[in-house]
Amino acid sequence: MRRKRRRITDADRKRRDEIIRELRRTGKASNNPWQTMELANRILTEEIAKRPPDPPKKKRQRHGRFKKKNYRKYLESPEWKAKRQEALNHYGRKCGVCGAKQRLQVHHKTYGSLGNEPMKHLAVLCEDCHAVEHEGKAAVTPDRLTQEYRAIVG
Ligand SMILES: [Zn+2]
Ligand SMILES: [Zn+2]
Repeated sequence: MRRKRRRITDADRKRRDEIIRELRRTGKASNNPWQTMELANRILTEEIAKRPPDPPKKKRQRHGRFKKKNYRKYLESPEWKAKRQEALNHYGRKCGVCGAKQRLQVHHKTYGSLGNEPMKHLAVLCEDCHAVEHEGKAAVTPDRLTQEYRAIVG
């Protein structure tokens, strides 16, 4: 399970400036400022990866270009049914986590591409692993989970 990539914040930018200063001070900076920036970005990315995950936000999850109401409609649309089928064919009819072959559901790793999902944004999960995947993530309310569960396959 991959953690969601988060946007770079102002604090991150400040930290990157700090890293660059450190690199200069310790003589690790390159003469090429772009290379130094690249190195600083790499260090920053590693630091971010080591940070504990963000606490769940109260903010409402956006469903890409969809409003919530339309998102529900979408899950019942022939487009989504076809996409779901495509995901099952693509990943095989088994849970991507535990390999279970029953109670399979197609999970959105992100809602950003809703309506035009590339396969990498979807995952096939069994009901149990799907619940675990959403557990503690405030972005998905029980209500939405239910909606998503209605998109059950197999
Ligand atoms: Zn599973
Ligand atoms: Zn899901």
